[in-house]
Amino acid sequence: MSSLIERDRSSLWHPYAPASGTLPLWEVEAADGVALRLRDEAGRVHEVLDAMSSWWSVIHGYRHPVLDEAVQRQLSSFSHVMFGGLTHRPAVDLAGQLLSMAPRGLERVFLADSGSISVEVGLKLAVQFQTASGRPKRQRFLTVRGGYHGDTFAAMGVCDPIDGMHSAFPGLLAANVFAPRPPAASTATPAQVQEWRASVEALAREHSDELAAIIVEPVLQGAGGMFAYPAECVRIVREIADHHGLLLILDEIATGFGRTGQLFAADHAGISPDIMCVGKALTGGYLTLAATLCTGDVARRVSGGEAGALLHGPTFMANPLACAVANASLGLLRDDGWRTDVARVEAGLAEGLAPALELDAVADVRTIGAVGVIELKDAVDVAAVTRTAVGNGVWVRPFRNLVYAMPPYISTAPQVRSITEGMVAAVGEAANGRAAA
Ligand code: PMP
Repeated sequence: MSSLIERDRSSLWHPYAPASGTLPLWEVEAADGVALRLRDEAGRVHEVLDAMSSWWSVIHGYRHPVLDEAVQRQLSSFSHVMFGGLTHRPAVDLAGQLLSMAPRGLERVFLADSGSISVEVGLKLAVQFQTASGRPKRQRFLTVRGGYHGDTFAAMGVCDPIDGMHSAFPGLLAANVFAPRPPAASTATPAQVQEWRASVEALAREHSDELAAIIVEPVLQGAGGMFAYPAECVRIVREIADHHGLLLILDEIATGFGRTGQLFAADHAGISPDIMCVGKALTGGYLTLAATLCTGDVARRVSGGEAGALLHGPTFMANPLACAVANASLGLLRDDGWRTDVARVEAGLAEGLAPALELDAVADVRTIGAVGVIELKDAVDVAAVTRTAVGNGVWVRPFRNLVYAMPPYISTAPQVRSITEGMVAAVGEAANGRAAA
């Protein structure tokens, strides 16, 4: 009988990977709190700390008793029902909780089944809004370089045109309008911010007749480069959108629910979007669920348009198990305990990653909220860094030239210290070509 990993390699795809993956794979045997128990291809077991929160989502840690209980309670009632013509308490409660936490002005919730789909819905809402407002030619989007909004076609079309997947599907992606990336938060001068403002303003003016909305990830671009930029730039896109009759869509799929130190990254800027997408941490990482929130004005216009409806409705919309665990996860964020947690993780990441700056291979080290980033001068040897980090007791998943951590909020100071020590050592060893084989 072949091993589980061999069976995986002969039958499954992994994210952004060829059919017969060459990167190392580990089997997860257990996940509890911040700890993962992994088995490697040689059968060796590794106890590691999870620095990734399973891609931003597991903010309260694995097997949280409150979240486990919420799923089990809902399971004993019903797991799924269609959302056309039917409703249920988990969905209604979730809409209420989301709207009470979200930036002011957001009044209506569409429950989608993944982050990419919530972005598709946000883009559709914007186009339907413009059409219903008598501007049917406004079907394109203005965004900034370096963004990432998902893997479906419309979402890919607003991802960075060079680093994203545009070149693979040239005939299928919409021709959107790309402004330069905002200046980096750590070095931005007022003059750079004003220069950036002028370039966004010029594009909005030039294309306003054909633009439906501006879409950005507020304050922190995630998969496009783990890049933080000044909150002032979010206020600027709000002003430019208002000036040119564009909607502002904020993609808070990665940043939402406390990760950057505010409940939503928009809160750093003190502004509200017309449309906001959330996902990832919404269910505490238990089940796939996302949401697109919009203002009452957007909801009324879209509903009053010729189509008479928002044209979207997935099979698993508002899945009750997912809504139930999302309610429990948001419940854990109700008191402000997460602020203390995120501040502790941030302080630990900043202190623990600072020594990486002394390594020749490292270009920059930065922290925003519970996210810590080591940027290398060259592309990361993903296999070498991941293997060495696992050997050092840490699970990381680097990409491009970035080795980064976004641990669960519950991580203690010693756990964060172990994570940063493991990361810095892995970067140092891999850079020296001494990575474990
Ligand atoms: N937007 C942002 C900012 C994201 O980080 C992601 C996921 N990496 C998405 C959208 C897409 O979400 P999903 O993978 O759930 O489709």
